Amino acid sequence: MRRAFPWLGVLLLTVSFVWFVRLPVPMHPAAAPRQSGVRGEQPLVVVLDPGHGGQDSGAICGTVTEKDLTLDVALRTELLLRADGCATVLTRANDRYLSLAERAAVGNREDNSLFVSIHFNDEARATASGVETYYAPRQSASRFGFLSWLPFLQRTEASLLTGKSESLASYIQAALIVRTGAVNRGIKAEQFYVIANVRHPAALVEGGFLTNKSDVTRLATAEYRQQIAAAISDGVHRYREAIRQGEPTLALAAARPE
Ligand SMILES: [Zn+2]
Repeated sequence: MRRAFPWLGVLLLTVSFVWFVRLPVPMHPAAAPRQSGVRGEQPLVVVLDPGHGGQDSGAICGTVTEKDLTLDVALRTELLLRADGCATVLTRANDRYLSLAERAAVGNREDNSLFVSIHFNDEARATASGVETYYAPRQSASRFGFLSWLPFLQRTEASLLTGKSESLASYIQAALIVRTGAVNRGIKAEQFYVIANVRHPAALVEGGFLTNKSDVTRLATAEYRQQIAAAISDGVHRYREAIRQGEPTLALAAARPE
C-alpha cells in the first residue's frame, strides 16, 4: 500500500500538468469573466481606502494635502453608496497612518467585496493633468495558499480576478470622465501593493494632480470632490450591474485615453 503514494503523486502531477497545458489562455485578461460562470455573483461590501494619512501626507500643494482630499472623497463616496443600499467599509475614517499591508488586510477580511483605493497625483511636470485609474495585472487571488502550487488553479483564478479588476477600473474611469470632464488618462496596469495584495476586484483612482494649477483649483472645491465621489459610486454600481448580467467588460472602450 505504501508503494502507491509516490505513484499517486506522479499521477496528480501529470493530471495537473495536462490540465495546465490544455487550458485556454485568454489573450486579453478582461475577456476572462465572460467564460467564468460568475454570473449573478455580486460583491456585497465596498471597501474604500483613502490613501495616506497621519504623518504620511502624500502629495502636498500649499495647504492642500493628498491625505485630506482622499479622506474627504472616501467619506462622500461612502455616504452615496450607503444611500443606495451598499454596505461599505473604510480602511480609515480619520487622519491616521495605516500601512499598505493593513489596508490590504481590511480588503481581504470580507468574503464578498470589492476594493477602491483613492489617491491624488503629483508629477515633476506641472503640465500633467487629469484622472487615471489603475488595476494590478497580477493580484494574489487565492485565499488557499496551500493550493497555490497547482499552476492551473493559480492561472485561472488570477486571470479571472485581473479581468474583474480591469473592468472595475474601466467603469470607474469612464464615470470619472463623464462626471468631472477632466483629461482622460485612461486605465493603467501597475503592481501597486495595496491593490495587488487584495484577493477581490480592486482599483486605485488617481483623481487629479496636486502639481497642476487648474487640477488643484478644482480639487479645492467641495462640488468637484462630490463629483469624484459620485463617479466612484457610479462606477461601482455599473460594475456590479455588469457582473450581475455577466458582461463586465462593456466600459473598456470608453475608458481608453483620448
Ligand atoms: Zn497617493
